[in-house]
Amino acid sequence: MNKEIQNIAPSELWSIFSRILEIPRPSYHEEKIRDFAVAFGEKLGLETFKDEAGNVIIRKPATPGMENRKGVILQGHLDMVPQKNSDKAHDFVTDPIEAFIDGDWVKANGTTLGSDNGIGVSAALAVLASKTIAHGPVEVLMTATEETGMDGANGLEPGVLKGDILINMDSEDEGELYVGCAGGEDANFRFSYSEEKTPAGFSGLKLSVTGLKGGHSGIDIPLGRGNAIKVFFRIINETSKQYGARLASVDGGSLRNAIPREAFGILAVDEARLPDFMDLVEQIAETVKSELSATEPTLKVTVERVPAPGILIDGKTQANLTRAIVACPNGVIRMSDSMAGLVETSTNLAIVKSDAGAKTIDGACLMRSSVDSAKTDLGTRIEAVFSLAGAEVNFAGAYPGWKPNMDSPILKTMQQVYNNRFGKIPEIKAIHAGLECGILGGKYPHWDMISFGPTIRFPHSPDEKVNIGSVQKFWDFLIETLRNIPEK
Ligand SMILES: [Zn+2]
Repeated sequence: MNKEIQNIAPSELWSIFSRILEIPRPSYHEEKIRDFAVAFGEKLGLETFKDEAGNVIIRKPATPGMENRKGVILQGHLDMVPQKNSDKAHDFVTDPIEAFIDGDWVKANGTTLGSDNGIGVSAALAVLASKTIAHGPVEVLMTATEETGMDGANGLEPGVLKGDILINMDSEDEGELYVGCAGGEDANFRFSYSEEKTPAGFSGLKLSVTGLKGGHSGIDIPLGRGNAIKVFFRIINETSKQYGARLASVDGGSLRNAIPREAFGILAVDEARLPDFMDLVEQIAETVKSELSATEPTLKVTVERVPAPGILIDGKTQANLTRAIVACPNGVIRMSDSMAGLVETSTNLAIVKSDAGAKTIDGACLMRSSVDSAKTDLGTRIEAVFSLAGAEVNFAGAYPGWKPNMDSPILKTMQQVYNNRFGKIPEIKAIHAGLECGILGGKYPHWDMISFGPTIRFPHSPDEKVNIGSVQKFWDFLIETLRNIPEK
């Protein structure tokens, strides 16, 4: 199967990709692909080394007459996402990927293909192997474990790479140039509560908010989808004020980087006020549904009778928690000034969960911004809200963003090169999510960075496919760009 892949044009790139297909390389099992990359550089007689973080770096001197050009770092990641169809027998740690040609696409047989980022890595290695491409000083940086924690990018030491321009080849739309991404940081909060006995005459109820769309907390945040935790506490806030509804437990959201689709809680309400309580819940549910009718048509709020809980979260903590959740910033905070339509700063109230054993309620917001100081300022706001309410707040997992620079010299060069070659100006994009470039640029702040790639569809799924024609254009664009890198 993989034999037919190596003959696709440009064969200098596809022949390397066909060899990479044979090498198992899910995240955290990258020894074999790392060995392959090192052997590749050494066999060419090039300076080749691994670093502590598992990255491989290979240097190739400039071709004759190109010595005065700025140094370029060609970057891709070594690992791939291991996803397969449930009926497919495949061990990603030992088995090669079975790729095949389907019209103008290359696909894999029931698994991810690993064109993300195998094509980018193949292109970088093909430049190293080439005896005909004109280029200035080139360094190839192949990073480890991009898909699960960006370990390689995080562990890269400053000062190792000599170049001035980073060209990342991990984008997925031919004809687009990426010039920015968001950084991220978790804001975590914890309430500690004391237990109160449920008063006599109170009934147990389970409140469920379900049917929301959820989605990626960065990419999907400008779509105006509902947040199940916000809806849940909107109901708690009103019903506790008006009818003394009490909270015994809460469980909303699941993943830090997902907009919460569902929130559940056990409540206790005075039996005598139950009809009024039910009316009010229905009223609020109808209001929220009408507010979100365009984005959340399947939003559902239900209340069902359950045995009355014996223990409640104390009233003061319930009030503090509820007010803090109601006040907590959520969604898009600011749009970008440098790029129309791009979210600059956002936050997703992702998780709120009580723990009866520890008598705590933990929660997390994932903040994102392409402007690091804006993210820090947002963290201060969130901290203010929760510390006013008596919660402990801490921050974790910060990584830097990449602020779009519309005056970037490599952007200008690549726009011109593309226009000369293909007769149109490529689209300029930025993404409201994390890319390796953000982290790498944090280590090498002087770098002029850009990201591009061939057209890949359904990455990270067994339907992953890469467009053959777009790989040819991507390759031509890369060669032409290297030829046109400005002088130092
Ligand atoms: Zn990738």
